[in-house]
Amino acid sequence: MSVSLPVNDLARAIAAQRADLDRALGEVLDSGWVVLGPQVRGFEEELAAYVGVAHAASVANGTDALTIALTALGCGPGDLVATVANAGGYSTTAIRNVGAIPVYVDVDPTTALMTVDSMRPALESGVKVAVVTHLFGAMAAVEEIVDLCHARGVKVLEDCAQAIGAERAGRRAGSIGDAAAFSFYPTKNLGALGDGGAITTNDASLDEAVRSLRQYGWEGKYTVGRTGGRNSRLDELQAAVLRVRLPALDAGNARRREIHHRYSQAASDQFFGAGDDSFVAHLAVLDTSDRPRARAALDAAGIMSDIHYPIPDHQQPVTAEHHVAGSLAVTEHLAGRILTVPCFPELTDAEVARVCDGLAAL
Ligand SMILES: *Cc1c(COP(=O)(O)O)cnc(C)c1O
Repeated sequence: MSVSLPVNDLARAIAAQRADLDRALGEVLDSGWVVLGPQVRGFEEELAAYVGVAHAASVANGTDALTIALTALGCGPGDLVATVANAGGYSTTAIRNVGAIPVYVDVDPTTALMTVDSMRPALESGVKVAVVTHLFGAMAAVEEIVDLCHARGVKVLEDCAQAIGAERAGRRAGSIGDAAAFSFYPTKNLGALGDGGAITTNDASLDEAVRSLRQYGWEGKYTVGRTGGRNSRLDELQAAVLRVRLPALDAGNARRREIHHRYSQAASDQFFGAGDDSFVAHLAVLDTSDRPRARAALDAAGIMSDIHYPIPDHQQPVTAEHHVAGSLAVTEHLAGRILTVPCFPELTDAEVARVCDGLAAL
């Protein structure tokens, strides 16, 4: 039996782009600029154009992007922030970073996404901001959620860490809420060779706040004009890598979608995101009825799998104050069923066929 197929393999993309990466990294070394220089500025402009927004500010990682955006949106100690409990806990970390309290809303059983209806009870509880997570590469109903929230004076922060490039009715994820957070963690659809993140917005004053908060709250060099600042900068080296990779993002997303489509055709279990045109297939996640049996069968067929995510935020061993808007019955139900199989652009057709065979035999 050949080696097991991994859920992800970063070495393949690095090898395929090696000459371009070497050249881009060499240019940074030649320039002598290491932080907040021309590569960062260039990447920010290219990202803003790609997402279709006026401003993009880079930061050190996606969790910082969420944290800084929440601060810029006015969240502080004791404020309530709506979010889902099934998305790996990043938004919860960011909400706690600013001293705010998460209000968890449930998700739809067929999409695993927050909905307008699941958001309503959170709005009753008086949240200041709603974090809308586009999970697995699928866009949540952010347009309707924005309408509902804005009617109540609630701001919307999109979490686009898993959905860069997703687009519905001509608008990309990250251009619809008041602000959006992106992660360039290496396994994301647009990944750096280390950590990175960004915040997009069409609001110039929000962008100015974010740029100040990412550097100690400075309003000018060594002059602190804002509270809640931190040090969260993107390196020139990472920005140069991201500029090599951004032009290839759409092709990578198309390949992911194609792989995901083949899986969903082969499997009798349902894949989240199947049939959704906005979907960019960050993860191929299926809804199993007997997960231990499915994992064992895939493992025996040489296909590795993972669970995104096994423990909902409100059930983590370290729990702190939080509220539940209504019930989290679907979140808890899906946590015991979801299973992630390998999905990345560099999979060969033969490997995709092997996964399809494995899925068909479940
Ligand atoms: C990866 C991820 C983040 C956090 O990004 P980091 O760069 O790892 O801090 C936030 N939200 C979601 C949904 C993610 O998948």
